[in-house]
Amino acid sequence: MGEDLSGAMTSLTLRVGDLAGEWDRTGLIPPELLRDLGAEGRLCAEVPEQYGGWGLSSLHSGAYTAHAGGLCSSLRSVMTSQGMAAWTIQRLGTAEQSAGLLPRLTGGALAAVGFSEPGAGSDLAAMTTTVRRDGDTVVVDGHKKWVTAAHYADLLVVVGRHEDGAVAVVVPTGTPGVRVERITDPLGCRAAGHADVHLDGVRLPADSVLGGHGLPTALLVTTALAYGRMSVAWGCVGILRACLSAATAHATVREQFGRPLAEHQLVAGHIADLYTAEQVATRVCEYAGRCWDEGSPDQVVATVLAKQVSATQAARGAATAVQVLASAGSRDGHTVARAYRDAKLMEIIEGSSELCRLMLAQHALSAPGAP
Ligand SMILES: Cc1cc2nc3c(=O)[nH]c(=O)nc-3n(C[C@H](O)[C@H](O)[C@H](O)COP(=O)(O)OP(=O)(O)OC[C@H]3O[C@@H](n4cnc5c(N)ncnc54)[C@H](O)[C@@H]3O)c2cc1C
Repeated sequence: MGEDLSGAMTSLTLRVGDLAGEWDRTGLIPPELLRDLGAEGRLCAEVPEQYGGWGLSSLHSGAYTAHAGGLCSSLRSVMTSQGMAAWTIQRLGTAEQSAGLLPRLTGGALAAVGFSEPGAGSDLAAMTTTVRRDGDTVVVDGHKKWVTAAHYADLLVVVGRHEDGAVAVVVPTGTPGVRVERITDPLGCRAAGHADVHLDGVRLPADSVLGGHGLPTALLVTTALAYGRMSVAWGCVGILRACLSAATAHATVREQFGRPLAEHQLVAGHIADLYTAEQVATRVCEYAGRCWDEGSPDQVVATVLAKQVSATQAARGAATAVQVLASAGSRDGHTVARAYRDAKLMEIIEGSSELCRLMLAQHALSAPGAP
């Protein structure tokens, strides 16, 4: 595939066409389309070529993710889940597990990642899902909530308690004891296939545990979430680009008081704010992407910063875009109406804005005066 992305982006644009609004209204992306996109390696583009992926750098993958996010946040959410599952397998799994599982994820199988539980949202240390060894099997019991893409998934990467720490275990959704219960009325990303997952005595081969042993919960969670944060941050850049494009197009054409909206300074101010938001989010994401590609020690904090800035800017920017379009953008399925609902959720997932701010404060306080 290399890293010439313009052809890949154009072809994704053609595949989505003008269907994102309809997917949002019906709450469903056709599963066969997702499988086709997955089999073309499009849903987890950073997976190395040896496993059938595109082997993109973090920066190039980010550019592609932003493009997807501008087209359809539900599709981008499915990409984020697939990419996070692949990343977790790559980082925590053995070479044999990577060789067995990653070609499935680049071959059309769909995956989702479950951390959250009824009593463990921001505080993942409170997880109660257990992964218990029993001879040459493991038994998984628990309840995961709000798992993006679980409705479509063939495989779930489930995080649970194991001995003194935590493990990630790969659970085929067809295994006896797995029940996937669709969330039918999410505020946004309505076609992303969110679901609650019930795991009752789910027995799996012991080699379903990634890496075969437990890790400290915080380390495991941070490792898996890092990819998700980066992906969501770039998705927010896409939301901002779509909003900027819709707002400038509308403000140029729509006339009130005898001239285009864009010639009214308060409306032009909204356009300037949107442009600023898009540029700021893009720059922090680019910085974080470079940190990933260079293996910089700043990678973790740069990723949290990118997620925090991009999500905040996207939520504010989408509201601004709705204001510029007013009634023209106030219907379900319209680009800016979708963006408004989708962007709000970006402030909640992969570490809420409050949790990101706490992490950034902790970083700043640990190195006072440092840039
Ligand atoms: C659209 C969507 C997609 C999701 N996808 C997934 C997924 O794929 N996999 C998965 O496992 N989970 C997923 N989740 C769950 C998501 O990770 C949690 O919603 C998130 O971690 C917040 O947890 P909570 O909703 O229980 O809120 P709570 O933890 O109850 O928090 C409520 C509020 O209090 C704040 N708060 C909590 N603790 C503190 C604190 N110490 N200091 C300051 N503020 C605090 C939070 O920031 C938030 O604003 C998804 C959720 C949504 C809405």
